[in-house]
Amino acid sequence: MIRYTLMCDKDHDFEGWFPGIEACDKQLSAGLVSCPDCNSTKVRKALMAPAVATKKQDSAMDKRQVAMAAQQAVMAKLREHVENNFEHVGDQFPEEARRIHYGETEKRDIYGEASVEEARELVEEGVEIAPLPGPTRTDA
Ligand SMILES: [Zn+2]
Repeated sequence: MIRYTLMCDKDHDFEGWFPGIEACDKQLSAGLVSCPDCNSTKVRKALMAPAVATKKQDSAMDKRQVAMAAQQAVMAKLREHVENNFEHVGDQFPEEARRIHYGETEKRDIYGEASVEEARELVEEGVEIAPLPGPTRTDA
């Protein structure tokens, strides 16, 4: 089964399940699929690209989901970049960041864990740090 987001000629979007791509196209062109909102059979497949989804007028929920998915993708990329290029120092992070800041050790990019309290102290001392969001974060 394939799930498609469908859209009628009045821009209502809804979901439809089909055995396959061809079956979907056939049912659509034969007028066998109707919009649950207005019963229109002028139904087409909605494009799945986020850029198109955000153009929908009446689905704030979808917009937020798309924005969230895009944001998560960016965060995952950022995290991946950091994990590949930065040295992991674990819970030594606050101490190591401080030593780098004060020139007590080699200047380099590091990442690791810090409590909210530790992070705040570092910021107050003028140490440049940034939170690294996890890929599983769901709040927004
Ligand atoms: Zn409709």
